[in-house]
Amino acid sequence: MKIGVLALQGDFAEHQVMLEKLGSEVVQVRLPSHLQGLNGLIIPGGESTTIGKLATEFGLIEPLRQFGLEHAIWGTCAGAIFLSKDARRNQPLLRLMDIVVERNAFGRQVDSFEVSLNVPALAKEGTNAPYHAVFIRAPLIESVGKGVEVLASLEDGRIVAAQQGRLLATSFHPELTDDDRFHRYFMELSR
Ligand code: GLN
Repeated sequence: MKIGVLALQGDFAEHQVMLEKLGSEVVQVRLPSHLQGLNGLIIPGGESTTIGKLATEFGLIEPLRQFGLEHAIWGTCAGAIFLSKDARRNQPLLRLMDIVVERNAFGRQVDSFEVSLNVPALAKEGTNAPYHAVFIRAPLIESVGKGVEVLASLEDGRIVAAQQGRLLATSFHPELTDDDRFHRYFMELSR
């Protein structure tokens, strides 16, 4: 299993540590050629505008789109924004996932928080015990298209994790916790 982490900006190193613990080979992706031979790709949290600008400069937008048509991609936080078809702002997006996101949806005062989520899909990874999720200036998934499955919502129903085939988007940061169920779930998607 060989998984790439888009290493332009953001917390790609934390994803790498998690994946290596789970026995995956990890490639830091900065150029289109780095995508060759990968089973899947993680786009980390960070700043989606910056990730988009750098991806444009490095000629990565089209290669990433092509990659996503045939492989698994998981976007966490800023990565989820970058995967989306619409972030209601003018910024480079991959537009692979049929989701509309709202950036910084939790405003400034409460820009970071942690909450327990019910994620039934994680039962595949052994247990669907509550998932402790870390949100940092997080986006919300405002709406999802027909082919998109909602994996997790907040208590008030607002969507924070979704899946479309092999594409996965989470508003929160599984790489910042010890719970490796989402990484294992993604490795299964990448197979
Ligand atoms: N606020 C960032 C953005 O809009 C995302 C924050 C994060 O990735 N933790 O791109």
